[in-house]
This record gives sequence, C-alpha cells and structure tokens, in this order.
Amino acid sequence: MTVLQRLVQYQQANLDAPLYYRIRNVPWVLDIVSNGRADLRPWNRRGPVPVMRRSGTRPMPFLAVDTAEYILGVGGHTERTKAFWDQMFAWAVSPNTHPAVAALLLLVHDAEVHGSTAPEPRDRIAIRVAGYFLHQLDEAVTEWARIIEARKGAGTGMCSVCGQQQRLAASLPNAIATPVSNTRQQPLLTVPLRAQTDGLPLCLECGDRASAAIDQLANDPGHHYGDTYVFSPVPATHTRIGNLLQLLHQPAPGT
Ligand SMILES: [Zn+2]
Repeated sequence: MTVLQRLVQYQQANLDAPLYYRIRNVPWVLDIVSNGRADLRPWNRRGPVPVMRRSGTRPMPFLAVDTAEYILGVGGHTERTKAFWDQMFAWAVSPNTHPAVAALLLLVHDAEVHGSTAPEPRDRIAIRVAGYFLHQLDEAVTEWARIIEARKGAGTGMCSVCGQQQRLAASLPNAIATPVSNTRQQPLLTVPLRAQTDGLPLCLECGDRASAAIDQLANDPGHHYGDTYVFSPVPATHTRIGNLLQLLHQPAPGT
C-alpha cells in the first residue's frame, strides 16, 4: 500500500467532513431574517466549511461561506464580492439549488447589514437563511464538488490510488494548513500538485482525501517528529526528499 493510499484510508476512517470541506473556525454568521435586513453576529464555532486553495489574481470565491471581503465587500475588493455573489446566483439556478438559496438572493437584495462591530476583511462568515446554514445543505456539498471539478480537474484517467477511471486532479484543491499552535513548525512537503508532471495520476477525490488527512495529521502534535512534520509521496528525486531522509536518519528527539 502506498503512502497516498494509507492517507486516503486514514481520512475515510477518521474524518467525516464532506469532500473539499475542512474544519475551520467561523467567527461570524450573517443571519438573513426578513426582507431588507441582514444581521451580522459573532459566531465563533468550528465546523466543516467549503475551502479551496486560491492562487493567482483571479477571484476564487468559496460557496456560501467566505471572508468578509468576498461576502460584504470589506476592504474594497469589489471584483471578489461580485464573483462571490455571481457564484451564488449561478447556484440558485443550477440543478443543485435549494429553496433557501433562492430565498437568500431575494431577501438580501438591497439589504442593510446590521452589526455591533465590523469584521476584518479576512474574517470568515457563514450565511444562515431562515435557520438554514447554506453550506451545510446536501445541495451545497454537491455544488461545491462541481465547482472544484471545474476549477481543479484535468482529464479522465486511471487514478494511481483508487485504481478507478476518474476525473484526475490538475492540482490539488487544498493546500495543507500550517499548524497555528506552534509557529516553529513548517511543512517540509506537500503532496504532488501537478499530477501530470509528477507522473502520479491522482483523482480529485483521492487527492482531497489525502490532503485532508495530512491537514489533520499536521495539526495533531501526536504525529509530529520533533519540531517537524513530514509526509510525502513525492518522487525520491525531489530535493526535499533528501532533507526528509536525512531527518529520518537522525536520532529521535530525547534518545
Ligand atoms: Zn482516486
């Protein structure tokens, strides 16, 4: 069994967030309660939310949960706010829609946002309509997977992990978060980002499961080696593998 297969197996056995979702803190909730009124309240709960590695200058909105700059226009990046709401409108008219999404778009039109304090541009906000957190809907999980496939997918081929004919990953949807508990720890490696060039055809689903497993392991001190955490299926020619092997030949801390 390869390292990637072990990671996918670990994710399936231990993590229950939907594909392309990660457990993150959500400091705010935007409550849409009636026509023309939206209340922004402190929330501060952790839970699975749709996320994607953003790269380049093009706006890449998440679905139904995003930062204050994408949802409310805090910080003045109007193209990001437009991209977020364009994506919500596209969801509302897609086969994966839900009545709460259409309700949001009707109710939020010209709504004033009420709140006692202003969020920072990078603060994450979830949207709740009539008691429904939109990102928790099954329809959101399906629509987010569709968006990820369109953004991060390559052609169809045989996945080297699950052995199935699948939509391969052009790049992994999500990077691995640096642990926040100990800033000394830096990731040595990430899993291969270019399935084609690394010669490791990997389907989007296996790629996301593997990176979710690494994300979880990297943030769990029980899986750290001294002050470094490492996990790599990258070919051995990769220079960083040298660092890894060197590291593994060193005595474990405290021995
Ligand atoms: Zn696969």
